[in-house]
Amino acid sequence: MIITKPREWARIRANLHEVGAKKVFIMGCGECATVAHTGGEPEVLKAKIALENDGFVVSGWAIGTVACHSGGIRLDLRKHQGEVDAADAVLVLACGAGVQTVADGVRKPVFPGLESAFLGNVVRHGVFEERCQMCGDCVLDRTAGICPVTTCPKGLLNGPCGGMWNGKCEVLTDRECAHVRIRQRLIDQGRGMKGVIPPKDYSAKRGPGSVNMRTDRKSGKGDTGAGAASGSAKPGGAPEKDRG
Ligand code: SF4
Ligand code: SF4
Repeated sequence: MIITKPREWARIRANLHEVGAKKVFIMGCGECATVAHTGGEPEVLKAKIALENDGFVVSGWAIGTVACHSGGIRLDLRKHQGEVDAADAVLVLACGAGVQTVADGVRKPVFPGLESAFLGNVVRHGVFEERCQMCGDCVLDRTAGICPVTTCPKGLLNGPCGGMWNGKCEVLTDRECAHVRIRQRLIDQGRGMKGVIPPKDYSAKRGPGSVNMRTDRKSGKGDTGAGAASGSAKPGGAPEKDRG
């Protein structure tokens, strides 16, 4: 899920003042931001009070079913059309993708109420960890399911670096070195290291990303194996053969 953090309130207030907004509609998100306790109903109501304390009028609020879902957000906005129409601006408590979905659906200024932090795992309630940076060229097959790009602070594909000490990371000293963990897990699984991991194809990360499962299926590109399950188009939308 996308982990979001509260955005500095002074910045939100300044955004609204910049466009002369007096009335504001607030949209939260019923998925990630609700789980992260940043854009669910309690946080939207807190934002409402904060806005009112700062002299704004809140014309209405809603928790979008899934803020990054274009069709769903269009329906959510339609249900609150009058309140949205009455507002001078919309404040969105969702990730950046959600903010853009709302901005596509209304003809008035839309501002982010949160910072998008990372793609995270839910470790336990209210505790999230970054495990993947969506690099588009995954090496987990070589690293026993531990991502070095994300969990090694230097993003080293091969390690450990010279700073590792007693199995601990030299940067995040309270954590185990990602590469020690990788090696240990590979040994435990009887796999061992299979040589040096070559430099990654970072062009696979080039954006804007786009996957169209409908056209891929029609053209037969998404018909086989993992490609069919995960989308065969690479981030950036360019055909695979054009990457290098
Ligand atoms: S190697 Fe890339 S895609 Fe795989 S987990 Fe790490 S960041 Fe994510
Ligand atoms: S000690 Fe390990 S995890 Fe830390 S920066 Fe070096 S290689 Fe990466």
